[in-house]
Amino acid sequence: MTEPLLGDGGPGNQDPRTVELAGRLETVRRRISSAAAAAGRSDQLPTLIVVTKFHPPEDVRRLAVLGVTDVGENRDQEAAAKAESLADCGLTWHFVGQLQTKKAKSVVRYAAAVHSVDRPQLVDALAKAVQNQQAATGREPLDCFIQVSLEDDAGAHRGGAAPAEALLLADRIAAAEGLRLAGVMAVAPLGAPPEPAFEKLAGVSARLVAHHPEATAISAGMSQDLEAAIAFGATHLRIGSDILGSRPAVG
Ligand SMILES: *Cc1c(COP(=O)(O)O)cnc(C)c1O
Repeated sequence: MTEPLLGDGGPGNQDPRTVELAGRLETVRRRISSAAAAAGRSDQLPTLIVVTKFHPPEDVRRLAVLGVTDVGENRDQEAAAKAESLADCGLTWHFVGQLQTKKAKSVVRYAAAVHSVDRPQLVDALAKAVQNQQAATGREPLDCFIQVSLEDDAGAHRGGAAPAEALLLADRIAAAEGLRLAGVMAVAPLGAPPEPAFEKLAGVSARLVAHHPEATAISAGMSQDLEAAIAFGATHLRIGSDILGSRPAVG
């Protein structure tokens, strides 16, 4: 790429952080293309969601200039502030973190999708919040991904509903006005190969789709395991550190 990305001073005058982000983004996009080709899915590339948590709004703006359309955040306070200050960027915001019901009202002000729906109370809180927001602004329905826990032990630290609960949650989402059932989401367990986990998620997805044919989305794959996720059918990738670098410490 030789086009100037910011300003009109030509490549030599680009802001160095933009150049760095462009390079990392390109590397990730190449990995996605190769993995999709290997899975025979070159014609159906997954949606890249760049997870920008802990990184400043200026970086999110740089990413928008570089063609990123979808960004993810995991904390409402940070996400709400960024979405507001970047309203002119036309970005689609995905909420990917654990969500307290009392935050539903805030999240639906900026998020197009929530990837961490893991319990009935949250479904109800999101539905009510979206309905109010729709009455006020006519916003689109909220895309809901059911977060599924792929850990074997019940004390799962990475969140999510047990696979056996996914169908009941799906029925509840599908029945709720203002919510659209998108599909499933998971985070691969730490310290174990991701393939068996993503295979399990693909199974949960297939059972869900049998009951809700429209709910075909699979949100899986982070910096470390995007290839495995694509091999098992991921439609949405959530990539943070391989694009933005390690997360700055927060005070
Ligand atoms: C932070 C985060 C990501 C991105 O993780 P990286 O390893 O930085 O790519 C993806 N999904 C969720 C739920 C996250 O919290």
